[in-house]
Amino acid sequence: AAKAAGRGQYRFFSREMSERAENRLSTEANLRQALSIGSFELYFQPKVRAADQALVGAEALVRWKHDGQLVQPGAFMTVAEDSGLIMELGSWVLEQAVREATHWTKLLPDFHIAVNVSARQIIAPGFVERVRDCLARSGVPADRIEIEVTESVMVDSARSLEVLWRLKRLGVRIAVDDFGTGFSSLSYLRQMPIDTLKIDRAFVQDLPRDSAIAAMILTLGARLGLEVVAEGVEREEQLAWLVAEGCPVVQGFFIAEPMPARQLEARFLHPLVMAQEESREGRSA
Ligand code: C2E
Ligand code: MG
Ligand code: MG
Ligand code: MG
Repeated sequence: AAKAAGRGQYRFFSREMSERAENRLSTEANLRQALSIGSFELYFQPKVRAADQALVGAEALVRWKHDGQLVQPGAFMTVAEDSGLIMELGSWVLEQAVREATHWTKLLPDFHIAVNVSARQIIAPGFVERVRDCLARSGVPADRIEIEVTESVMVDSARSLEVLWRLKRLGVRIAVDDFGTGFSSLSYLRQMPIDTLKIDRAFVQDLPRDSAIAAMILTLGARLGLEVVAEGVEREEQLAWLVAEGCPVVQGFFIAEPMPARQLEARFLHPLVMAQEESREGRSA
């Protein structure tokens, strides 16, 4: 009986697994086609200084235009990573993000563009060269680019260590995304060339009521001389707590949602440029 049940179970799992595999394959085929016909789009979410909400940068977030919908990365990133398509997609994201931001970095002296990079991209051969070429072609100074990696990149290996140091030597900034949600020890903070900690949304969500971990990360960042960014700020009371506790930079729906490049320009950059021009005219008049 055990054997029969075992076999039945096997068949059950095998059907479920093959359905899942088919799903994956069709997503993979769709993604492959999307890459070849250019159906991806970048959205940009503003990052602002907490104290006065001045724009300090933007994070590039990829979207997939599929069947008339805008698909979020949660629905395809795992397939892109497992299939290796992330390599081509990631190159496109980097190029496109830097291309859009070239103009913005010229307008604003402190503006940086943040690009998410998955573990697989980081350790693949040629990644550092790709970043270097992208910088050279665009003329954007290296320190205006921040690479966001999750703690999983920090956990493994000599390889990650080497790549992150090579990026650092180029002058690129490195941020730990979703900080506090990985399963890593903190010892990597001493070895890896990190500039920024991004407090995961999970620890921002229940501010100000549940603030122990956010406070701890702010202290850690200050003690280590790192920039700290709070992600996922959705409500005024969260922002108020972060300002009071001296969190330097914030990002989230309360400030602005991710948006197309032209919209970022209309809402955030044009007003700044106009203000700059007015103050110049004011001085010369
Ligand atoms: P992430 O890098 O941690 O990005 C933050 C995510 O939180 C984004 O989701 C953003 O839209 C969302 N978000 C921002 N503010 C708020 C808020 O106030 N509340 C809530 N609930 N959510 C907020 P998105 O765009 O769906 O991206 C999800 C994840 O996919 C990203 O997490 C990142 O890990 C990955 N991803 C996105 N674009 C890329 C990419 O170009 N390359 C790679 N390798 N990964 C990417
Ligand atoms: Mg990110
Ligand atoms: Mg994050
Ligand atoms: Mg994430």
